[in-house]
Amino acid sequence: MNLSIEIDTTRSAEVIDITSRIAEALHEAKIFQGICLIHALHTTTGLIINEAEPGLMQDMLRALEKIVPARAGYLHDRIDDNAHAHLQAMLLGNCVMVPIDDGRLVLGTWQRILLVELDGPRRRRVHLQVLS
Ligand code: ZN
Repeated sequence: MNLSIEIDTTRSAEVIDITSRIAEALHEAKIFQGICLIHALHTTTGLIINEAEPGLMQDMLRALEKIVPARAGYLHDRIDDNAHAHLQAMLLGNCVMVPIDDGRLVLGTWQRILLVELDGPRRRRVHLQVLS
């Protein structure tokens, strides 16, 4: 079974909690058991599991900016002014796997599935592949 969801991002960089969108898609598809691979189809987004506390979500973006600042002489900026977004995305990875049990995503108390936009705003697509 495979599904996908679309997310319209609204800023150049932002962290978006997509947990409920994924839970809805699985619910609509009547998937109650299995393992869900959640895979962002982009090279300038990250997909992570972490806490969706608003201050922390800002901290994540600030930390990425410190590690990989924009326009620091990257070769890719010569053709596409977004090398920092690719490099930040590389640090985060683009997919996570979450078990589904009894129709619910198995996540810890503070765990949420977060899409990290690094070169928005854009329409982003996240593919869900369920192994059951
Ligand atoms: Zn690029």
